[in-house]
Amino acid sequence: MFHSNTPVRSTQKDQLYPFYDAIVIGAGIAGLICGTFLAKTGKKVLIVEQHSIPGGYCTSFKRKGFNFDAAVHHIGGCGRWSVVGRCLRILGIEMDFSCLDPMDNLIFPDFSIEIPADLERYILGLQDRYPPEKDRIKSFFQDYTKLYRATFHNEKSQILETYKNITYGDMLNRYFENDELKTILSGQWGYIGLPPSQASAIAMCQMMVNYLKDGAYFPSGGTQGFANAIFKKFIDFGGHVMLSSEAIKIHLNGTAVNGITLRGGKEISSGLLVSNIDARKTFLELLEGEMDPSFLKKIHGMRRSCSFFLLYLGLGGDADVSNLKRGFYHQATNSNSLDREWMYISVPTRICPDLAPLNKKIISVVVSINEETYEDVTNWDSFKEHMTRVILNRLEEYVPNIQKYIEVKEAATPKTLERYTSNTKGAAYGWAVTVDQMWDNRLPHESPIKNLYLAGHWTRPGPGIAAVVSSGWSVANLIIENWRQTI
Ligand SMILES: Cc1cc2nc3c(=O)[nH]c(=O)nc-3n(C[C@H](O)[C@H](O)[C@H](O)COP(=O)(O)OP(=O)(O)OC[C@H]3O[C@@H](n4cnc5c(N)ncnc54)[C@H](O)[C@@H]3O)c2cc1C
Repeated sequence: MFHSNTPVRSTQKDQLYPFYDAIVIGAGIAGLICGTFLAKTGKKVLIVEQHSIPGGYCTSFKRKGFNFDAAVHHIGGCGRWSVVGRCLRILGIEMDFSCLDPMDNLIFPDFSIEIPADLERYILGLQDRYPPEKDRIKSFFQDYTKLYRATFHNEKSQILETYKNITYGDMLNRYFENDELKTILSGQWGYIGLPPSQASAIAMCQMMVNYLKDGAYFPSGGTQGFANAIFKKFIDFGGHVMLSSEAIKIHLNGTAVNGITLRGGKEISSGLLVSNIDARKTFLELLEGEMDPSFLKKIHGMRRSCSFFLLYLGLGGDADVSNLKRGFYHQATNSNSLDREWMYISVPTRICPDLAPLNKKIISVVVSINEETYEDVTNWDSFKEHMTRVILNRLEEYVPNIQKYIEVKEAATPKTLERYTSNTKGAAYGWAVTVDQMWDNRLPHESPIKNLYLAGHWTRPGPGIAAVVSSGWSVANLIIENWRQTI
């Protein structure tokens, strides 16, 4: 089994080819999946990554023997027949996962509920809780799964017509009047980074159906283990990789791409590029040469997703974390709005004790940072201290005397996320998942520049690991089909 501590290395400089059939910029999960499918065909493929490790947001770091997941907490769609499971099987990647059941907990000030890792059980639980809504609950989830299938298979269908232009909040209002039920069904909006009043119905459905149908999965050894396993398969297929290598220019030969320049000046040639990085940077900063002005205008007008503040705690063995559940802790609100603020807490050592030294524990906390909050911050160090204090005060309610047990305390702000991944202002999910930026409105995989493709959460279908696996895979299929036709 390939674990996060297996060393990952760049290809030796003297082994690099003068010309590649394809270069992938960015070793996020979409870039790794796309590159691995391309390398599997026997073509010469290079991945360049600015960081010293692969994975993008799906990476881990170590402090004093504690192994913290930097961003991703769990992955949807890992069942044998779901998108990630199928993709790994086709690539021949062996991975051990723990299936999380319950999938999540939603903790509201006046009640809490477990979300089981099985849709039928979830539906029955909701029907028991809200008997007058029994039939509507059934038809809501039928539509939800139908909509997911239609988007996944890219089918023209009535269900897509019905929901493609409405928000998730509108979708809930079409079905239900019961506010508590709608609050529960909105309780996991943090996974797409926009509250129900603004998020597209398709975005919520794409993120949630995998989780609800076959659960959330935690990769053995932490989320870095997931990235490393794909990375290793890419190398096994003969792929080349340059870590700690930032692409700073994309060159054009007339209207088609013909290579990149890395920071430091090294130029590498290829007639085909896949950008797994921030789309705004791809077109506004890296690309040299003329671009269609209407496309550039569109990019300028697009809105990025929220970012997060993260607190990572390593606790001594005597800390009692038994009162903490994994899931969303929602704040009280005076209104009936479904857009409640939340804090997400997980205790990964409960799933995988060897992430910490013997008997010790890890707690990680995520808080959403929207655009306005980001712009208001003038001093990020003070912001970090303030947020850490606020979160520790809240944790104290569940873990008495928590301060006494802290052995490691690390925090990440949107600035940290940006530093490690170059997603503008630490955008967690690429473009925001508003109605006008999802489905047909999200940037397509093929760009206006010949042989420049996009893979990852800045393109279709959207954010989250299951979606970017699908994105990288779709782009590889497009490219392989083009290669076949030009033989
Ligand atoms: C805090 C947080 C928690 C999350 N939790 C979850 C979760 O639990 N489950 C889930 O499914 N999703 C989660 N997400 C969302 C998910 O992580 C992302 O949608 C997904 O990982 C994006 O993958 P990607 O391949 O598109 O790109 P990224 O992960 O953004 O990777 C892009 C890569 O490109 C590299 N790069 C950038 N610029 C350059 C350049 N110029 N040259 C070379 N390399 C470059 C970066 O270093 C990076 O490695 C979370 C996101 C955040 C921020």
